[in-house]
Amino acid sequence: MNTIAGPIGSAEALKTSSEPMIDPFGRAVTYLRVSVTDRCDFRCTYCMAENMTFLPKKDLLTLEELNRLCSVFIDKGVRKIRLTGGEPLVRKNIMYLVRELGRQVQDGALDELTLTTNGSQLARYADELYDCGVRRINVSLDTLDPEKFRQITRWGDFSKVMEGLDAAQRAGLKIKLNAVALKDFNEDEIAGMMRFAHGRGMDLTVIETMPMGEIEEDRTDRYLPLSKVRAGLSDEFTLIDSGYQTGGPARYVTVKETGGRLGFITPMTHNFCESCNRVRLTCTGTLYMCLGQNDAADLRTALRASDDEAYLSSAIDEAIGRKPKGHDFIIDRDHRRPAVARHMSVTGG
Ligand code: SAM
Ligand code: SF4
Repeated sequence: MNTIAGPIGSAEALKTSSEPMIDPFGRAVTYLRVSVTDRCDFRCTYCMAENMTFLPKKDLLTLEELNRLCSVFIDKGVRKIRLTGGEPLVRKNIMYLVRELGRQVQDGALDELTLTTNGSQLARYADELYDCGVRRINVSLDTLDPEKFRQITRWGDFSKVMEGLDAAQRAGLKIKLNAVALKDFNEDEIAGMMRFAHGRGMDLTVIETMPMGEIEEDRTDRYLPLSKVRAGLSDEFTLIDSGYQTGGPARYVTVKETGGRLGFITPMTHNFCESCNRVRLTCTGTLYMCLGQNDAADLRTALRASDDEAYLSSAIDEAIGRKPKGHDFIIDRDHRRPAVARHMSVTGG
């Protein structure tokens, strides 16, 4: 069950000036991920059930409201925003929000605006994304085999994603591919995907599957620890530890043979929480302070209660004051239930 606390704070407690957001463990919150929709044109088997119940449209914040919320976060020290979902590029008029936030990059208020996408709509939007100030994007891709692609995404069209990658590179966008490592699905493909990515000047990051939301299959059957992936790759490639950082949880190596970069995101085998600098906002204005915990704050009520940004700012401060130390994901035969009931598509990873 989600615990969503409402806004608090007496009028006297409301701050009029913006102060940086520091959580109880001394971590500065400088990175906001915004899930602009919980809907998607794919149904990846590890992410969603085939018959998902999505939020009623009336519960969604408008794009103007999302923009206002993002602006308050920027005033409070957020330097990087990632739009995600669901599939961010299926939200109607999403380019309005991209353009508005892109202006904040041009004005120097934000260091980076980026997005995570399944690539299905990239061919259509790549040029406009670049024009709005987006320079780097993450594209999720778990296989290079069109048949297996259909199997894992249920509804996806591999050729559309390839067209999207081409269009994005033509537009000048730097791409990082994200692949979820799945036992008996793509474990033999990781080396090939890495050659493909590096051959085209793209980074590749592999991710462990996380226990979020009910799906049809048992996640234990698909869980593949990245220590195993790394060991397998080391037989064939020279992996050199690198200090490269993107402000995210990935640990990078440089691959001597390809000259490219490979990232590992290991929420299951390593705790990546110590350096967490982020919070996650959903399309209904719910703020999750941790991907792997249920506690959340309702910012929509604060947003709609007053035009005074100080009120919203105070509700955000209260939420940041509750940011937990970390998650405790476990996938094994004794823990078959998801660690959190919501699907990854609610908070966007
Ligand atoms: N639709 C977009 C996409 O697929 O890139 C953005 C949202 S998607 C939820 C963000 C990322 O989360 C994708 O890379 C996806 O593979 C990953 N993901 C989804 N469910 C996951 C899970 N249970 N464990 C690990 N990664 C997951
Ligand atoms: Fe959609 Fe992304 Fe989830 Fe796949 S991983 S179902 S593309 S939200």
